Amino acid sequence: MQSHLSADYIYCDTPAALESALPTLRSSPALSFDCEGHNLGRLNGSLSLLTFRTMFPSPDATNTTFIIDALTLPASSLLPIFSLLESDTVLKVVFDGRMDFSCLLHQHAVRLQHVLDLQLVDIASRARRGEGEHAQMARLARVVSWADLAANRGAYRSIHRLAGLRPCAEEHKVAIPPRGAYMDHSAWLQRPLSARELTYAANDVLIISRVYAAFAAAAYLERYPSVLADSMRYISLWADRPPAEGALERYRSHGLLPLHVIDVDTEAEDQERDRDVALRVCGYCERALPQTCFRADVWDRGDVRQCLVCRAVGLFHPRFDAARAGLRWPPRV
Ligand SMILES: [Zn+2]
Repeated sequence: MQSHLSADYIYCDTPAALESALPTLRSSPALSFDCEGHNLGRLNGSLSLLTFRTMFPSPDATNTTFIIDALTLPASSLLPIFSLLESDTVLKVVFDGRMDFSCLLHQHAVRLQHVLDLQLVDIASRARRGEGEHAQMARLARVVSWADLAANRGAYRSIHRLAGLRPCAEEHKVAIPPRGAYMDHSAWLQRPLSARELTYAANDVLIISRVYAAFAAAAYLERYPSVLADSMRYISLWADRPPAEGALERYRSHGLLPLHVIDVDTEAEDQERDRDVALRVCGYCERALPQTCFRADVWDRGDVRQCLVCRAVGLFHPRFDAARAGLRWPPRV
C-alpha cells in the first residue's frame, strides 16, 4: 500500500535550529530514529544525517521529523543529541539498527541505548500471525541452498529471514510514501542536500513510526516482553569492530537473522556459566554462541566450528567458504 503523503521535516543545520529542536525531542517518550551516511557503520564510513520523528501517543498530538546535519554542525553542538541516543528514558525505535549502532560507537564513541528494533518484532509477529514451519522455510527458500533446506530441514528451524523496511511495511499493510529515485550513498556527503535527499531521510523515520503504530495496534509489542533485550543484542552485532572487507563481513552481513538474538534463554545460560559450560566461538562469524547454534558434529571442532547461520550462508555462497579456506572458486576441474 502506498500513500502519497510525503514526510515534512525540520532541517537542523545550524546550532540555533538544533537548540530549538531539543525540548521537543527530549519530551517525546519515544523517537523513531535512523541515520544516513556514506558506507554508514563500516570502517572508514561517514555519518551525514541523524533523523528523528517524535512519537507522542495522543491522537491530538502533532508529530514532527527533525533532520540533524551531523556533517555541517560543529561536533560540540551534537553532544545533546548524543546524550539523547545514550539516554535510557527516551526510547529509540529503529528498523535494523546494526549499522547505526556501529557508526555511533566506532566513529563517535556514542553507545546507542534503550532501543526497540522493529525488524525483530516483524519476525516475532510471524508466529502470531499463524505462520508455521512451512511458511518459515518458504521465506528462506530464496536465500539458502534449496537442496540443503530440503535435505536438512532441522538445521534451519532456528533461522529466520530478515525483511527490509519497505517490504515489511507492505506486508503489514502500512501506508508508506512512494519510493524515490535511487540514492547514490556518496551523495550524503555533498552539501547542500537537495529536497529529494532530505525527503528520502524523512520518509524512513515516517515509515518506522507507522510500522511501530501498526505493531502496537496489533499488540505485537506487548506480547514480546524481551524485545528491548533482544534489540540490544541485535544492534550491537558489530560492537567488537566495524565491518570491513573480508570474511567476517561476509558471514555477518546477509539476509538471515543472526543466531542468539531472539529466543535466548538467559536463565539457562547463566546456569551453564555457573557450571563453567562456556559459549563457543563460531570460526566464521566469530560470535560466541551456545551449543544449540551448532550441529552436534562441529561443537568440538575449533577453527572450523561453524554456526547454523554461517553454514547456511556458506552453502548458498560456496565462494565465501572457498575464499576463507584460500581455495579457488569455482574449483578447477
Ligand atoms: Zn557463525
